Amino acid sequence: MKLRLYQNPHNSCLKLPRLISSVIVVLLVSVAMLSSMRTVSSQSISYVQPLLDSGFDIRVHQTLTVEIPELPLSTRTVILEVLNNWNQAQEWFIASYYPKDTDRIYHLVANSSSNSDSQIAIVYVPNTGQSWGGQTQNFGGTSTGYTQRSLIEIRNDQLYNPFGLRFLLVHELGHALGLGHNNQLSFDLMYPKQAVAPYPSTLNLYAVYLLASGKAGGSATLPETIPYIIWDPQKVPLPEFPSELVLLVSVFSAFFGRSSKRVHRLD
Ligand SMILES: [Zn+2]
Repeated sequence: MKLRLYQNPHNSCLKLPRLISSVIVVLLVSVAMLSSMRTVSSQSISYVQPLLDSGFDIRVHQTLTVEIPELPLSTRTVILEVLNNWNQAQEWFIASYYPKDTDRIYHLVANSSSNSDSQIAIVYVPNTGQSWGGQTQNFGGTSTGYTQRSLIEIRNDQLYNPFGLRFLLVHELGHALGLGHNNQLSFDLMYPKQAVAPYPSTLNLYAVYLLASGKAGGSATLPETIPYIIWDPQKVPLPEFPSELVLLVSVFSAFFGRSSKRVHRLD
């Protein structure tokens, strides 16, 4: 629009100096940005994750064995990656927000042999026109109140779509751990209607942390101190180094830093 004003020599009232015109455009853009920011901030989202009636007892099951059926290597690789993603995401979350509670992480470990002792079993079922691609049933001992075993059924046609399988399985594993459907958050892993996030969010991870702390039923509301973030494999906790090693590294880097400066001066 600004260009068109200057290209019209007959319309003298539109011949604004270039600087004034730029300022007006910047002001208009700023006003537009401010109004859109107001709109976003006024839509306060509450991050609430419903919980199922029970989760696994972390005192007994810090390691959850997951039975995987015989499958082609590519499918099996996706499943192993998803299990590993849940482990890494929990480790990152605990290291970031509850570093003293490293005992409240469920470690998902694949178990290829058919073993009735597995806590979670993944099975595939024929496509008989059911509306779901996967479903999870949790079986709990009524005397203990904890989940004893979880059965994840994947419709067999879903196994051959690695991208879809990843979204489906990460969601079903959320159910196995005790997460319910998150009907309000369409961008979250536990949204029921379609697979939208391939990795757990801080909301999902906070809820799993509460389940590991013994809470079940009701819901988990993300504390204001924890931002809503969808974890991804880049977010892996860094190992802690002993302070002596850090000191040694800083001495070396200071020495080599000076050396490289000398070389630059010679050039
Ligand atoms: Zn679901």
